[in-house]
Amino acid sequence: MPICSVPDCASDANYEVIFYDVYPHGEITVFYGPHNSCPYLCHQHLAENESGAETGLEDARLRRYRGMVNYPHTRSNGQGFCIYKPIT
Ligand SMILES: [Zn+2]
Repeated sequence: MPICSVPDCASDANYEVIFYDVYPHGEITVFYGPHNSCPYLCHQHLAENESGAETGLEDARLRRYRGMVNYPHTRSNGQGFCIYKPIT
């Protein structure tokens, strides 16, 4: 069982973090891969990551492809957003 990737968290990881984006026009491109700097999260840190995410959209719960999301734990400078695969 992997450990949560947040510094100083020793909890078992409950989710694998996937960085995702799609460009559905012209030459269609899908990006789907492990988050390099924070590949695993526990329940608590997934909740913090989503509740603290900033999107610049009126409804911060929304995620848009080709958009930018600033997460507290799964930082990225690229377009796209995080999705989470439960570890069973
Ligand atoms: Zn954690």
